[in-house]
This record gives sequence, C-alpha cells and structure tokens, in this order.
Amino acid sequence: MTQTEILWKYQESEMELDRLQKELESTPERQKLRKLRRILQEQTEKLEAHRNGIKEKEAELENGMQKLEALLKEYDLEQDDLNIMMEDEECTAEELTESRRSMEKLLEKVNALRKSLTECQSWIAKTAEAIKETYAKGAKTKRDYEAAKAVVETEKMEHKPIIDKAQREVDMIAAQLSPDLLKRYKTIKKKHPNPVARVTDNRCSGCGMSLPMNTIKKFSTGTAIIECENCARILCCEKPGE
Ligand SMILES: [Zn+2]
Repeated sequence: MTQTEILWKYQESEMELDRLQKELESTPERQKLRKLRRILQEQTEKLEAHRNGIKEKEAELENGMQKLEALLKEYDLEQDDLNIMMEDEECTAEELTESRRSMEKLLEKVNALRKSLTECQSWIAKTAEAIKETYAKGAKTKRDYEAAKAVVETEKMEHKPIIDKAQREVDMIAAQLSPDLLKRYKTIKKKHPNPVARVTDNRCSGCGMSLPMNTIKKFSTGTAIIECENCARILCCEKPGE
C-alpha cells in the first residue's frame, strides 16, 4: 500500500473517530445538561442583579431617612417660630401667612419624601421575595443538573471502549505514515476537514477542479505525493486500497 493510500485510510479512521465523538457530545442528555447549565448561569446572574439592586435601594433609603429627619427638625423649628409670632402683637398678618406658607411647603416635601421611601421599601421587599423564589428554582435546577450530569458520565463510560478502539485505529494507521506526510496532512486539515481527495474523472474530488495532464501523468506513474494545484489537498487514486 502506498503512503497516499495509507493516508486515505488514516483520514477515514479520523473521520470515524470524529463522528463517534460528535455522536457522544450530542446525545439528548448532553443537550439537556448544556441547557441546564445555561439556566443555572442565568439564575446566578439574576441573583447578582437582585442583590446589587437591593444594595442600591438600601443606600437610597438610608439617605432618604436622613433627609426626612432633617426636614422634620426644620418643620418643628418653623412651628416654634410660628407659635412665638402668634403671641407677638407686633407681628403682622402677612408675616404669619408667610410663615404658614413656608410650613406648608415643608410638609409637601416631607410627604413626597415619605411616599418615595415607602416605594423604596416595598421594592426591597418585593426583590427579596424574588431572590427567595430564584433560590428555590435554582435548587431544583441544580438537582436536575446533577442528575443529568450523572447520566452523561454513564454515557461517557459506555462509549469509552468504542471511542478508545477508534482512537487506537487512528494511532495504528498514523504509525505507518511518514511523520512529514502526517504533518503535511495536519497542516492542510486546518483549512479543509478532508485533506486527502480522490481523483475522479481526472478531477480533484475535493474542489472539483480538473487536473492538468502532467499532474495526471505524474500521478499514474510514480508514488510521489501529489497535491491539487487548486486546493492543495493531497490526491489519492480513484479506488484507494485496491
Ligand atoms: Zn482540489
């Protein structure tokens, strides 16, 4: 068997190994596992966002409480002033009205602030509830994930002898190839999944281009390794192995 023919067999064995590995990686249980992993990831991100949101709102709440305290103090002082003014006979009606108006404005501010603080508190409570829910869901996802993982491990164990056998076949054929040729094959493989192409009707079956006459001639007479001038795949005779 020529090196090119061995290389063809090598390519076939590699494709078979690849097919087996892909088959194992795409079982329904593997897909389920991947999906569950995504869901877990999303739940973790959600929790993180909720926690950060609560931190921000708590700071906002703290700040608002301090403002409220200051406003209430201010209101008390205005109230004291008004009481003094009311007992003061020198005080005009305009001055009293002015003082009352200023207190009303303060009260409006207090009420608006109270409202926003209440909203803030209920947002925190609602988000804390959402965190609890996400935790509960997360625990279930985690259980499902562990179960799927166990099945996937079993599948892997069951497939291992088949894949190992295919890998041994690849290694065995590789041992019959010259290292230089194997290296060349691997370089071409970076560009083409099938680095070896058959010659069919004087065409490269890899890219479909017809081969020049001198290439065909070289090809049919010698045992040299010939590449397609167009796609650089290594060319192999029409019926390899025969
Ligand atoms: Zn080609």
